[in-house]
Amino acid sequence: MAKISINLATGSLQKEDIIVGIDLGTTNSLVAFINPENHPQVINDAGKGVLVPSIIHLNPQNGESIVGNDAKAHLIEDPEHTIFSVKRLLGRSYKDIEHYQNFFSYKIVDDDNETLVKVKIEDKYYSPIELSAMILKELKARAEHALKTPVNRAVITVPAYFNDSQRQATRDAGKLAGLDVLRIVNEPTSASLAYGIGLNPEEERTIAVYDLGGGTFDISILKIQNGIFEVLATNGDTFLGGDDFDRAIIEFWIKRSGLTAEELKQYKEIRQVLRLKAEEAKKHLSFNEQYNNDVQGIDCSIDKSTFEELIKPKVDQTLSCCKNALADAGLKPENIDSIIMVGGSTRTPLVKNSVSTFFGKSVNDSLNPDEVVALGAAIQADILAGNRKDILLLDVTPLSLGVETMGGLMDVIIPRNSKVPTKAGRQYTTAVDGQVNMKISVYQGERDLVKDNRKLAEFDLKGIPAMPAGLPKVDINFLLNADGILTVQAVELRSGVKQQVEVKPTYGLTDAEVEQMLLDSVSHAKDDVAQRMVIEARTEGEQMLYTAERFIKNNAQFLSEEEQIHTIKLMEELKSILPEGSKDEILSKIDALNEYTRPFAERVMDVAISKAMKGKSIE
Ligand code: ADP
Ligand code: MG
Repeated sequence: MAKISINLATGSLQKEDIIVGIDLGTTNSLVAFINPENHPQVINDAGKGVLVPSIIHLNPQNGESIVGNDAKAHLIEDPEHTIFSVKRLLGRSYKDIEHYQNFFSYKIVDDDNETLVKVKIEDKYYSPIELSAMILKELKARAEHALKTPVNRAVITVPAYFNDSQRQATRDAGKLAGLDVLRIVNEPTSASLAYGIGLNPEEERTIAVYDLGGGTFDISILKIQNGIFEVLATNGDTFLGGDDFDRAIIEFWIKRSGLTAEELKQYKEIRQVLRLKAEEAKKHLSFNEQYNNDVQGIDCSIDKSTFEELIKPKVDQTLSCCKNALADAGLKPENIDSIIMVGGSTRTPLVKNSVSTFFGKSVNDSLNPDEVVALGAAIQADILAGNRKDILLLDVTPLSLGVETMGGLMDVIIPRNSKVPTKAGRQYTTAVDGQVNMKISVYQGERDLVKDNRKLAEFDLKGIPAMPAGLPKVDINFLLNADGILTVQAVELRSGVKQQVEVKPTYGLTDAEVEQMLLDSVSHAKDDVAQRMVIEARTEGEQMLYTAERFIKNNAQFLSEEEQIHTIKLMEELKSILPEGSKDEILSKIDALNEYTRPFAERVMDVAISKAMKGKSIE
């Protein structure tokens, strides 16, 4: 039973402890909740509007920040102190973003390539986590004001391709804003929940979520089964969105005006004014045939068919992403059961119609496309609050997680596409006698060799009591929580020595890298298997040499001189072939050594047994 309480301010009955759903967008952010009638509803505080532009203005004099529409106004007159698109920086290093640094009008600190980026305003540094927290604080305040109740818990959405580092950063931003972030949810998962897809555990569906926002385009293909949302493929373009439509209109107006570049410069800030007009025109043309206006004598009229001609190449670009995503998922357009439209730019009729033609069926667009993600997040929050007991929602991890073992091999502990949360472990041992430390390196990726995957963390399990090789039992456990964040624990069972790390990568993979890693794993599968077998043979050979050496040292008295010489000869042969030899060459040398020395081991064993027998007096 959900607890019920009375909201003293409104006099209405209210479920205790509201958990809100937040869409923290690149262009716009918003917050939603489940209303007392049990419907998801977006929050419009005091008529300020539902969408909060994800823009922050930092006052250089007093350090105060304003967020949303009021900050947007400063974009024109104070661009250096006005931060937009902070989501592009979240969980990223300078290296990740350097090639599009010019996109930002504010200063991005570039002195350390590997760590998370910072923004510099005057002499102050801000991390993208702090800046995102400012947006989240504004959303929290609006929700509290509108609902007249404290809001302390939230579900926040992220794109499906966000990696561990970006998810961690989103969660940290929530924490910094005073929110207990119960779950980080994929945006396409949220959007499908808003349409009620995935709420019935019996139903199995394959859906496409087409999300065209202000500056980014994502297409995700999901398979939903038993409450599990599996991301079959994602594709998109991180620099394609409604802003491109606006730019196309501006270029058209300027060209038609016949003004030269020189003349244009004389109109200070004219581009920014034209930008606002262009967005207005675009939105108007979603529902009308003609837009008329003018700015300082420049004719700013445009009709719908001209607009559609201008943006057609961009729309076609999104369709080729859809094509790629389908190919990656191994599906055809007719295999898709529903197509969900997300993002403000899908209101443009040409977009809607083109997508519908591409998939060969009508699209789901009955819900407000810039609200669906937040609405779905509110539903997810409601599920987490325990108000919908029949549903269990799970996401899956996009890349495999494992540790490095002998010879640089990747030993997968949690395979890709495992449902999260999940826990898995395996037992390892030492390779050398008396080994007291064990280095544990954690990797993410699909390739057989760790050097081709991405290192997430490395730590030492220290203080293993000295024992012969192979005797210590080291349990390595991976715990992947529902947000896709990994904790690794290593315990030496005989001594109880323990080490634990939460894996917090210093910088993230780019989307292109994740994609490339998946592609590589397929195209290199054959090479990988061959390489893996050589490495395994080499490792086996090294181990064999180690054992044989130890054997000769400890048990020389049981061998004739000739036997010792021949053993050493076989060992030399194996040793010399190890670095360059093929798998078969190595294995044949191992076999030869093995065959020759096996009787010795038996001999030693017999002596040991008879010694033991002698020691006992048998009556
Ligand atoms: P994001 O997910 O990137 O934060 P949104 O989903 O809020 O972005 O989409 C913002 C984009 O949608 C902007 O480019 C905006 O101009 C565009 N947009 C909003 N309303 C309309 C409309 N009626 N017609 C066309 N485009 C629209
Ligand atoms: Mg969005």
